[in-house]
Amino acid sequence: MLYEEARKAVCDTARRMMRDGLVKLTSGNVSARVPGTNFFAITPSGMDYEVMVPQDICILDLTGRVINGHRRPSTETPMHRLAYDRRPDVNGVVHTHSIYASAFACTGQAMPVISTELAALVGGTIRCAPYARSGTDEFAEAAVQTLGSEDLAVLFQNHGVMAVGRSLKEAYSVAIGLEEAAMIFHLARQMGDPIIIPEEERHRMFQEFRRSYGQPRAGIEREPRGWGDVTVLRGRMDRGD
Ligand code: 13P
Ligand code: ZN
Repeated sequence: MLYEEARKAVCDTARRMMRDGLVKLTSGNVSARVPGTNFFAITPSGMDYEVMVPQDICILDLTGRVINGHRRPSTETPMHRLAYDRRPDVNGVVHTHSIYASAFACTGQAMPVISTELAALVGGTIRCAPYARSGTDEFAEAAVQTLGSEDLAVLFQNHGVMAVGRSLKEAYSVAIGLEEAAMIFHLARQMGDPIIIPEEERHRMFQEFRRSYGQPRAGIEREPRGWGDVTVLRGRMDRGD
């Protein structure tokens, strides 16, 4: 099978998204850049995640043309394509209809950072893209423009959310963290006024998390790239040589 690793990563993430309760039936979609090419791998449209296998994943170029695969690609292909086109730092995209984050998106409001976990994952307020009909170029433009040049997540008014990352794994973590934070925010609102973490502190936590969270391995840390992790020599990077 061509592009096997990318197809497998996208399929595994899509199936996991359903198991973790971020989507139901055939909603949502997942994609990842294929390293070393100008292509990305994306879930097929309207396919049950229970039966999805890596062969069902479509390979497209950055104009949205199908390069390889026998399924019709996701209807949200314009949005994924535009995210890769505008954001060279993005290597994975996850779109879900997770309940609490989607409920928040139905208010059209931006979601403030109220938990340390969300601060570590996304750093800043998650903005809400104005309503547009899903699957259209107009929708893609609203989503990617609202995401901007640095954000890792965006809400879609009356629809759902998109999480992006330097790797598909990172995008998936953001999607999970966002749903959890939306649930916490909702519960906290029932009890009083949620306290928003100040910008400077959010920023510090975001940088710190990226730099040092997880397990170091004898001077070597893992940096997310492509669809998974690639090991880099942290010491070399820090010295800038
Ligand atoms: P697809 O099944 O075409 O990917 O669409 C699902 C979805 O969530 C549309 O917004
Ligand atoms: Zn959707």
